[in-house]
Amino acid sequence: MGYFKTNPDEKGNFGEYGGSFIPPDLQIEMEKITDAYFSISKSHDFITELRSIRKHFQGRPTPVYYAKSLSEKYGGRIYLKREDLNHTGAHKLNHCMGEALLAKYLGKKKLIAETGAGQHGVALATAAAYFGLECEIHMGEVDIVKEHPNVVRMKILGANVIPVSFGLKTLKEAVDSAFGAYMEDPINSIYCIGSVVGPHPFPMMVRDFQRVVGIEAKEQFHEMTGEQPDNLVACVGGGSNAMGLFSAYIEDECEIYGVEPAGRSLNLGDHAATMTLGKPGMIHGFKCYTLQDEKGEPAPVYSIASGLDYPGVGPEHSMLKDMGRVNYVTADDKETLDSFFELSRLEGIIPALESAHATAFACKLAQQKPKQSILVNLSGRGDKDIDFVMDHYGKEYGIL
Ligand SMILES: *Cc1c(COP(=O)(O)O)cnc(C)c1O
Repeated sequence: MGYFKTNPDEKGNFGEYGGSFIPPDLQIEMEKITDAYFSISKSHDFITELRSIRKHFQGRPTPVYYAKSLSEKYGGRIYLKREDLNHTGAHKLNHCMGEALLAKYLGKKKLIAETGAGQHGVALATAAAYFGLECEIHMGEVDIVKEHPNVVRMKILGANVIPVSFGLKTLKEAVDSAFGAYMEDPINSIYCIGSVVGPHPFPMMVRDFQRVVGIEAKEQFHEMTGEQPDNLVACVGGGSNAMGLFSAYIEDECEIYGVEPAGRSLNLGDHAATMTLGKPGMIHGFKCYTLQDEKGEPAPVYSIASGLDYPGVGPEHSMLKDMGRVNYVTADDKETLDSFFELSRLEGIIPALESAHATAFACKLAQQKPKQSILVNLSGRGDKDIDFVMDHYGKEYGIL
């Protein structure tokens, strides 16, 4: 367990990444959350309540499934950790329930967050409804139009969706707006970030709440096969579902792969392959690999999966890349779509487009390593993506 004692260090650094580079008044709040996290989240009551929520509300443990048809087609043995079966259809609820439970212990009344595609907003609105807390979700006006069904879901769940109308009116501005709202009332509200990103303690806290994925999977995989997996694969946007799975095996032998979106092409603006093509920099108050334009500003990013298009990445992933512990690879839009349809038709599982990046790479890996096992984190289900896929690719794939 040596790894978790020192990563992050007490200042929130993962090697040369992470930390906290924010205005002093915000820093004070982050330190309060850090202290509360260390004292409250390790208490017996907190752990017992979170366990009960995971079991009875979220439906955990989610299964590990042997993808027989996919394995027969590509060689290798491909297993899927079914986070698509977690309540609300993705892994995100794992950290939202943790963050909201912490908020309850702290006596907070309101949860505040940003959302891009709306997945984090829906998960947090769900957590707020569960705990009877207010919920305010900041979202760019462009995304509000694009992600209409998720906006409706948030509203049905009782959340207040705040349109953000400055700048590019997308995720980055939504983060700025949400932080601003949080600073207006840090006593009664708490900021709940959507991935293993942001200033300390968020990358650590979100990872710790997601560790349940890896802890369950390790036990389940061993029970099914009597072994450890030879390879792990997960998609990486900010990197929370990947850290959830990887954390259980960091100190073991297996090969680990994080899959980034190569989008339409590897030209700047056409992808979000932050670690594959970016360089160390600063974004939203922490250090990590970033994609930057000529001026050193966060570059425009694109992915067919809106949950993956962020020009930064978790600091822990940045460190694991430099250490050589995790291999960061890519899958492009076409490979992702092929895998989206293939998983649907061969296994009866419609994956999220984010997760289809991971399965696309896993199938290639299976061809290269036909004797080995591969455990993939299937981070979410694809219901949210079906209209988009039909509208844009229905003809190509023979549905329309
Ligand atoms: C948000 C999302 C992701 C990307 O977020 P990470 O923090 O990188 O895990 C991946 N898969 C699904 C289904 C998502 O909703």
